[in-house]
Amino acid sequence: MSSAVLAHVALGANLGDARATVSDAIAALDSLPQTRLLRASGLYRSAPWEASGPDFINAVAAVETGLDAHELLRALQALELQAGRERPYRNAPRTLDLDLLLYGDAVIDTPDLSVPHPRLRERAFVLLPLAEIAPALVTASELQAVAGQAIERL
Ligand code: ADP
Ligand code: MG
Repeated sequence: MSSAVLAHVALGANLGDARATVSDAIAALDSLPQTRLLRASGLYRSAPWEASGPDFINAVAAVETGLDAHELLRALQALELQAGRERPYRNAPRTLDLDLLLYGDAVIDTPDLSVPHPRLRERAFVLLPLAEIAPALVTASELQAVAGQAIERL
């Protein structure tokens, strides 16, 4: 794999068997073309935040990929569709949500892709699992800022 990039992906699900969906999706990342799973956090349970429905199951995974950022986004969206995701309205409950948090040190701002993910640092359900697998990417004050959000590691 030439010019592989380290990317971080957030996983979330709150419909159906969300734990199985997230675990399966972590494994599926390793099956994407030119992509290898490096690390995955444990599973977390969080209360819906700017969203509705049951509690979410969340995790963050690190992959090494030869896909460019837009190719990786499309591959993640294909996995969402395979998991049966529909988008009836914004922030609807979802069987699987895969967000590209970081793509190396790239800064991308296009209509369909913003990297680093704009809301990465606001969300405990992203920051805690990210800190678990990549502590250098999250500061203590960022963790402090989301300490009031309800989340538990399973
Ligand atoms: P959200 O993840 O914000 O709850 P969606 O998963 O429905 O909502 O994503 C909405 C749109 O966000 C997608 O169509 C995608 O093009 C866009 N998007 C922009 N930046 C990113 C990113 N870094 N990762 C994933 N999707 C992104
Ligand atoms: Mg998303």
